[in-house]
Amino acid sequence: MVGCENSKKSDSDSNKEKCLSDDVINLDQGDPTVFQEYWMKKKDRCTVVIPAWDLMSYFSDTTNVCWFLEPELEKAIKALHGAIGNAATEERYIVVGTGSSQLCQAALFALSSLFEVKPVSIVAAVPYYSTYVEEASYVQSSLYKWEGDARTFDKNGPYIELVTSPNNPDGTMREPVVNRREDGKVIHDFAYYWPHYTPITRRQDHDLMLFTFSKITGHAGSRIGWALVKDVEVAKKMVQYLTINSIGVSKESQTRATTILNELTKTCRTQSESFFEYGYEKMKSRWERLREVVESGDAFTLPNYPQAFCNFFGKTISTSPAFAWLGYKEERDLGSLLKEKKVLTRGGDRCGCDKKYVRVSMLSRDNDFDVFIHRLATIKDLKCNQP
Ligand code: PMP
Repeated sequence: MVGCENSKKSDSDSNKEKCLSDDVINLDQGDPTVFQEYWMKKKDRCTVVIPAWDLMSYFSDTTNVCWFLEPELEKAIKALHGAIGNAATEERYIVVGTGSSQLCQAALFALSSLFEVKPVSIVAAVPYYSTYVEEASYVQSSLYKWEGDARTFDKNGPYIELVTSPNNPDGTMREPVVNRREDGKVIHDFAYYWPHYTPITRRQDHDLMLFTFSKITGHAGSRIGWALVKDVEVAKKMVQYLTINSIGVSKESQTRATTILNELTKTCRTQSESFFEYGYEKMKSRWERLREVVESGDAFTLPNYPQAFCNFFGKTISTSPAFAWLGYKEERDLGSLLKEKKVLTRGGDRCGCDKKYVRVSMLSRDNDFDVFIHRLATIKDLKCNQP
């Protein structure tokens, strides 16, 4: 809470100043501070107090495959998915992780160690979430090997396809593209499959699905993610990885996540209080402002997303992804161009694409977003102005 108060002060104080100043704006990382205002309004409603004698053990429930998962968090996760209708939790094991980043690595370990032939190829369709490249290559494991774009993948042998839907960086809804079921496994990353980002059109029901607390509510600092896993052997292997890697997951974080997830579920049908109503309006208004600037000039491109009926909101809604996949109409390194304007973004080359695309975080604080829109407006006509 103290942290919140401090940020509140510095945010509002620096607001006007930042609009006038020419500070560097970092929209490279997807740090989800956009929702902080909503949580500030909750005041002490989601404050968690933990006495010193509590939560001291490594263990949570030794009868559970995931023995370090707090039973209350398990209930909260199931209740939230039930209320939103975005994923099936029945007949599945829940594995909690230190963010879904850790779970993705646990899943790569689990799935590849269960294949007979190694190394297992890891692929994702371009443009992909750039961190997958590091997650699949950093430790130079002999179990698996990063093979890049799933669309051009033609190697024989076992593979794992990472499918992010809606996709980071371009916000599109995705399905697997490699279709050799007999020797392939899929990890479905649903970090952004929540109604403030995209219409909930179906209840996802795959073998291995990843979710993260970070991108639902913005509490990335708690480092909580979860996997919904059908196969007990895969769940056990993931738990083995997490045990060796970090002997479980912080119980303080699990407790905080439980309180906040329960609040989401409790208020999700009350329009004035619902986080998802707030988040949807917030993201929608940012996208409208961005599109207005892009469409008023002739230099940039943005993807268009079809509207769809959202089962959660009970109406047809638009898509407002967490990242903007901004393109430049000419062959030019857009990341460098924006860097000259002191806006840091992630270059398309990091996502397996061309440098004329960049990934821009739409999840920053208001003042950074305002400055970004202002600076973009100053360069949108650049092409026309050039000789
Ligand atoms: N998957 C995707 C697609 C993401 O964008 C992110 C965060 N940028 C993650 C996973 C990881 O989230 P975390 O580790 O914070 O749970």
